[in-house]
Amino acid sequence: MNPYDFARIDWSRPPERRKPVWHHRLFGAGLPRLYSGRLELRLTARTPIFIAAYSLAAAGKAIKDPKKPVPFIQDRTGHYIIPGTSLKGLLRSLVETLGNGCLTLFDGNYEQEKTGERGRYKAVYKDKVRPEFLHCQDDTHLCIACRIFGSLKEHKRESIFMGKVNIGDAQADPETVALYKPMYTQPLVEPKPHHRAFYLDEQERYIAGRKFYFHHDPDREPLQASGYVYFTRAEPANRYIHPLDYDTVFYARLDFTNLERDELGALLLAIVLEEGMCHKIGYAKPLGLGSIALEPLRLELIDYARRYSFSARGQDGREQLQGEALAQFIDELVEEFKREHLQRLAMEDLRRIWRWPPDPDVEYYYPDKAGWFDLPENARKRIAETRDSA
Ligand SMILES: [Zn+2]
Repeated sequence: MNPYDFARIDWSRPPERRKPVWHHRLFGAGLPRLYSGRLELRLTARTPIFIAAYSLAAAGKAIKDPKKPVPFIQDRTGHYIIPGTSLKGLLRSLVETLGNGCLTLFDGNYEQEKTGERGRYKAVYKDKVRPEFLHCQDDTHLCIACRIFGSLKEHKRESIFMGKVNIGDAQADPETVALYKPMYTQPLVEPKPHHRAFYLDEQERYIAGRKFYFHHDPDREPLQASGYVYFTRAEPANRYIHPLDYDTVFYARLDFTNLERDELGALLLAIVLEEGMCHKIGYAKPLGLGSIALEPLRLELIDYARRYSFSARGQDGREQLQGEALAQFIDELVEEFKREHLQRLAMEDLRRIWRWPPDPDVEYYYPDKAGWFDLPENARKRIAETRDSA
């Protein structure tokens, strides 16, 4: 089975855009409450997981010593970490997907032709999205993902809104750290957006949605090669890496300021998802790495309005939630969010793609071996039809 599938987009419902509420509304009696505070998370690897200590993008060049596996990223104190930016990217993509956000990553043109002619692409998809879904451009009209996580100006580093969430690096608990054996990955295949039967909807009117990778059966080993694999270049097409093993536990802290109620609901949904689902993060997802469970442990809410009002003297406006009380609070906000804002088509798909435990009877690999993509009879096959492809 193809290792990824798409969470569909409901094109009939463009992102709902608003001006982000940012300043503390200290004297706004009767105004809806804003939520500030911090959330502690536990992350438990369910399969081996890998995040490289340095960029693996540039083929070959990044490999310092080919005999040594690329190590897992550590912070200055020597703890293995999942960088806060990776966690933020994960949660942002989920808020976009499930909360009907804009298409932050959509580029329009994919797979530049190698003819040397500039601006020629194999997959020209600019007209394959509805324009209302393109990345937010105006800081007074931001989708829910841009309000929560911030928004960058197109092709510039300059940000139009900083966002309201800050996520620290998740640090591994040294007691739980177990290294998986060093492994040679299978070569990771470049995406092939020109394969329209995968990347567009059935009528080829719009893009198929947002891409997510299936979880692999944790009882199977990740897909590996026995050594470096060479295609046409002098540099190997695969990587030698040293993942952490399943059951490694990380702890992370997430700070948020002035979230509106639906924004907090969306953020919590992105964290807890649903029973029977699991997140996926890091490198080599198509090979079976990176399944990870996220679990809220403690939530501290700081009510600034109460903190600064005389009537609440004696209290500092802080409220701590954990255990059953935390579960109830999360459930209430998440259910409310789902009733009012959930992108149901996307959730239906993601529930299937990220089901946990995964279907032990399905093997995932690119249907690429023996030139699958080049065979004319496969040109129109949809992803669901790759389940038993050789
Ligand atoms: Zn947006």
